[in-house]
Formats: sequence, C-alpha cells, structure tokens
Amino acid sequence: MSKEELECSFCGRKKAETNLLIAGLDAHICDRCIEQAHGIVVEEALHSDKDELSKEMMLKKPKAIKEFLDDYIIGQDYSKKVMSVAVYNHYKRLLQPKTDDDIEIQKSNIVIVGQTGTGKTLMAKTIARMLNVPLAIVDATVLTEAGYVAEDVESILTRLLQAADYNVEKAQNGIVFIDEIDKIARKSDNPSITRDVSGEGVQQALLKLLEGTVVNVPPKGGRKHPDQKFIEVNTENILFIAGGAFDGIDRHISKRLNMQAIGFSASKSEDTLEKDNLLRYIIPKDLKEFGLIPEIIGRLPVLTYMNPLDKGTLRAILTEPKNAIIKQYKKLFEMDEIDFVITEEALDFVVDQAIEYKLGARGLRSLCEAVLTDAMFELPGTEDKKLHVTKDYAEEKLSKSTIKKLKAVS
Ligand code: ADP
Repeated sequence: MSKEELECSFCGRKKAETNLLIAGLDAHICDRCIEQAHGIVVEEALHSDKDELSKEMMLKKPKAIKEFLDDYIIGQDYSKKVMSVAVYNHYKRLLQPKTDDDIEIQKSNIVIVGQTGTGKTLMAKTIARMLNVPLAIVDATVLTEAGYVAEDVESILTRLLQAADYNVEKAQNGIVFIDEIDKIARKSDNPSITRDVSGEGVQQALLKLLEGTVVNVPPKGGRKHPDQKFIEVNTENILFIAGGAFDGIDRHISKRLNMQAIGFSASKSEDTLEKDNLLRYIIPKDLKEFGLIPEIIGRLPVLTYMNPLDKGTLRAILTEPKNAIIKQYKKLFEMDEIDFVITEEALDFVVDQAIEYKLGARGLRSLCEAVLTDAMFELPGTEDKKLHVTKDYAEEKLSKSTIKKLKAVS
C-alpha cells in the first residue's frame, strides 16, 4: 500500500484528511478517533469508579469503618462510632433505589464539637483517605471576612474541585471539612450588630450548600479571575463535616443540665455528671444557644464531640497510630540505614513537655523535631548507624532549642 492510500481503520479517513495517522500491526488510527476513544475511556473509568466506590462502601460496614479509624485515631471511641454510622448511612443514601414510598433518606452531614487539636481534622482526613475521595479543608472564619458572602461560600467548592483535580464527578462525591464553624455563630451578647449579621449571613449562605443544590463554581476562586467559566457542581452527595471548639458552650450545657435536674429528676444532680467534660452531654439545642441558626443545625443532623487529650492519649499518639510520628522518624532513619531507638522515658519526657507548654498533640511533632534535628543533620553519610535517644539526650537537645518559640508556633 502506498503512503497516499493509507487510511484510518476506524473512520476510513484518508491520511491526507487527518492530522496524524498512527500505525498499528494491521491497522491505523487517526488523531480524531484517538480523541474520541480517549473520551470513551475516561467516561467509562468515571462510571466504573463510581460503581467501585459504591460497592466498596457497601462492603465496609460501620464496624469495619470504625476499625479503619482505630488505626489512625487514638481514643475518641464515641465519635468514631457515630462517624462510622454517619458515613455508612451517607453511602446508603447515595445508593438508595428509587422507590415510591416517599421515604427520602436525609443527608448525614456531621458537626464535631471539641477543643482545638483533639483530632477533628484528622477524623475528616482519615475518612476521606478510607473512601479515597477528595477532601477540602476550609476555614469558616475567612467566610465572615468576605464582602460578598455568597460568592465566598462557593469558594469552598473551588477548593474541593482543586482537591479532585477538577474532576467534577469526583468532587461531587467528596468531603468538605468546615473548620471553626463556631466562629460564624450569631453572638447575642455581641454589641456589634454588623458582625452579628455577617455571621448569620454566612450561615444562611451555607444552608443550600449543605442540603444539596447545583452551584456555579468559579474554578480558580472568585476574586482574581473574573473572566473564568463557571463549573456546575451538585452538592447533593457531598458529605459536609463541620468542626469547632465552641468555647464556652459548656456553660449552656451545664445550665440546661441543672435546670433539668431541678425540673425533672433529682438523681441527675450535678455531682453525678462528669464536670470536666460536659461536652459529652451536648445536644443540638446547645448549639442553638451558642448562636447557630436552627436551619443550619437541622442540616448537620449528626452531632458528636471530641474528648480533651489526656497524658495517656498523647503518649499513645506518639507511637500507636499507623503513621505515628515516631514510626515516621524510624522510617526516615532507616532510609539511611540508621537504627533509631527511643526509650520509654524519653517518650514520656516529650509528652510531659507537650503538656507543660500546653502544646497539645500538635506540639508533639515540633518537640520531636527539636530533639532529632541534630541527629538528622549529623548522622547521614557517617559510619554512625545507631541513634539511641534517652531522656537525658532529649532533655539536652530540648534545652538548646527554644521551646518558648514552639509555644508561639502552636
Ligand atoms: P483539630 O482539627 O481538632 O484542631 P487536628 O485533627 O488538626 O485537630 O489534630 C492536631 C494534630 O494532633 C494532628 O497532627 C493529629 O494527627 C494529632 N491528633 C490529635 N488527636 C489525635 C488522636 N486522637 N489520635 C491521633 N492523632 C491525633
């Protein structure tokens, strides 16, 4: 066959009519057919992705979800249980067959109340990792600063699109973690009226997103790129997890509990309650008292709390999770064939420092970094293949570093 007679085996176009004709064993394919075929491959992959995800999810029962969370998150058993059920129900909802019984399963968006550093973000991250779906972590406080509230609320979805590499289908099955949701509470005792309004305005704007709606999303974010084409994103299957410290909410809880004790049952008197963690008694009404509008609370139907981290938990966080900090350092040293051993006393010492300087779990890494940086600098490339970190060693390294600086960083 002469060159001029070559044609695409798929569409029959002559070589001259194509931009490119690629030869196979017994056939040729043109650029147009390649593009078309590529489109089909992408489309198919998307659908099979979705089916895979659904099938996989239905295989993972709540107990298995919790077991996965257990590998990464120490303690917080109640929260892990509640989240496992919420995630399972979320995926059941996505798969619900269309029936005519009028029972529509509501979204299981979640709100987690707990001090900063207790693992709220970690919870959202771990669930996204387990489901292999994109995760956007956004801070509700930036939303209050916006002039155009509605536009900025949409930027939440810009983040999710980015996390999904602009694959809309994936984004629509993703997870959004909204941090510091308590900061957009309406503050009844706040004298500034404008601030009040802005908090409530953001809450109003969030409502639709949480419930499920089609939003025009500026793919690069709203402000700097006015000419971009919007992408339509349906939020119906996006799981929203909101987190916040809700500082001072324990006052509302204790007030309510005391009133109940007087009004209903004397046995629920104050001394039978665990006063140091009143959060365990939290109910949606407390969020309302704090300043979330009832509509928002209604759209975050799953409410859970995180316990403050005690010494034992901090100690476990250092070594027990699948990707525990100490395990990570061990691996780093291993790559230089260095055997890294740290004594129990040294670990206890690091935890004590984290508590003393109120650094919490987040400070554990900074402290380890301060203890190990010298070794990580000196040892690679030398004959020294063993690093034995004792309490004395840790103490010496920390005394040289400025822990006060760490405190400022946390
Ligand atoms: P929050 O979102 O509540 O402020 P984060 O999830 O960001 O807290 O947690 C801060 C750090 O502490 C993270 O590095 C996280 O891995 C670690 N951490 C906190 N709680 C736990 C826990 N229960 N188990 C394991 N690590 C934890």
